[in-house]
Amino acid sequence: MKLTLGARLALSYLVVILVGMGIVAPLAWLAMERLYLNTQSASLLAQAQLVASALGTQVTTGGIVPYSQSSNVAPGIHTRVIDPQGGAVIDLLGPAQSQAGLSLPELAQNAAGLVTPVELLSRPEIARARQGQAATAIRSLEAAGGKRVLYAAAPVLAGDGRVAQIVYLATPLPDTQLGALPATLGWQFVGVLLGAVLLAGAAGLILARRIARPLAKMAEAAHAVAEGDLTQSVPEGGSIRELDVLGQAFNRMTASLHQSDQAKTAFISDVTHELRTPLTVIKGTIETLEDGAVDDLEARGPFLAAMYRETDRLIRLVNDLLLLTRADAGALNLQLHPFDLAELARQRCAHLEQRAAQRQVTLRVLEQLPPDAARPFNVRADADRIAQVLDNLLDNAIRYAPPGSDVTVTLTQAGQETACRVDDCGPGIPAKHLPFIFERFYRVDSGRDRGQGGAGLGLAIVHSLVLAHGGRVTVESVEGQGASFTIWLPAHD
Ligand code: ADP
Repeated sequence: MKLTLGARLALSYLVVILVGMGIVAPLAWLAMERLYLNTQSASLLAQAQLVASALGTQVTTGGIVPYSQSSNVAPGIHTRVIDPQGGAVIDLLGPAQSQAGLSLPELAQNAAGLVTPVELLSRPEIARARQGQAATAIRSLEAAGGKRVLYAAAPVLAGDGRVAQIVYLATPLPDTQLGALPATLGWQFVGVLLGAVLLAGAAGLILARRIARPLAKMAEAAHAVAEGDLTQSVPEGGSIRELDVLGQAFNRMTASLHQSDQAKTAFISDVTHELRTPLTVIKGTIETLEDGAVDDLEARGPFLAAMYRETDRLIRLVNDLLLLTRADAGALNLQLHPFDLAELARQRCAHLEQRAAQRQVTLRVLEQLPPDAARPFNVRADADRIAQVLDNLLDNAIRYAPPGSDVTVTLTQAGQETACRVDDCGPGIPAKHLPFIFERFYRVDSGRDRGQGGAGLGLAIVHSLVLAHGGRVTVESVEGQGASFTIWLPAHD
């Protein structure tokens, strides 16, 4: 059965309270009984000593005056005065007892002829009284149905200090079994139990409300998120730490979902935009050709060239997107082999030399190896992918470098990393754009770049590929003073 949080908490509280009461109640009962017995013993002993001292005076003044019922004998106490040999000198009942005709347990024993002088002398409290010390004892009397009796024995001392007689008091103790409890106590117990149930219920409900309210809010927000509303958040800073942590985690989750949703929307819109431009050009060109240009042998050349250029741009875009998607999924399937990064840089410069020459840009490769360094610029990487990285960086540098300037590729080693830096003397990148330069479709000046054909994916690809190799990429630039991109790859011996 599924209980509500409140009912479950109330039940747990109730169990805890009852178990607590179950442990504490017997201990309290025992402590109370001990206190009661100590008080009773002390009181009976005091009475015995009082009577003994009264009798002591009589013994000293010669002749024993029989101790009467009217003198100091409390109701319910069986009073005896015995000589040191156990013989009874006086045997009295308390007045209330004799008047009410109640029997004392010791009398029952007496009646059964069980209390002989020998028997009396064998009792420890009497033995101690015979040695001059007052003592008490508690015993159950079988003859009185196992009833417990409290005894007090006090010596009556003669003038010479010898024990002349012993005052011996006995009184029955009340039953301490649960069944012997007064009925009012039973009702009080039921009252306490009811109080415990109510207390447990109230505490359970209060705590449940404090837990359930934020949980209900979270469930509501989660439903809204499931319906597509990613702007949901729940209040933080509650007094229950775990719920607060849960709330913070929930808010972080929705914030992150919202962010990635926005990024996804922006990405789709960017992709659509980038696809639409070449497709529109291709469609327009086809329409122009259909309108008759196709038959004009001289005119159709540039149209077909434009179509070829735009189709090429589309293919590059689709390939770039595919590569980034693979990198995101960790499915680049890199073929890692050791190779010399300087050698690869020289190869890529040679490959792009013609394009650089068209823009009157000179490509140079510099190797800055410390004199004592034994190893060349070895890295363990996928040479094709790193070639793609260098091509993208060199392509940008050639594109932005002014005619007549140099684009320099510098190789260095720093600690466990091999670095390859591409510098140009172009317009550089304004500082405010630097933090976003590796984001997909990010362009510093979209108007400027569109003319130059960039979709804003080149540096995102550089970033993804270098990261997939366990490396990193950094950029430094001062506007108007060129740009400097560095890739750092783990060095390989
Ligand atoms: P694209 O594919 O359009 O070249 P990139 O991701 O390679 O896109 O570059 C993103 C933007 O960074 C470019 O639009 C350009 O504004 C800027 N950029 C990249 N390299 C350079 C550079 N060497 N000098 C100046 N700006 C650069």
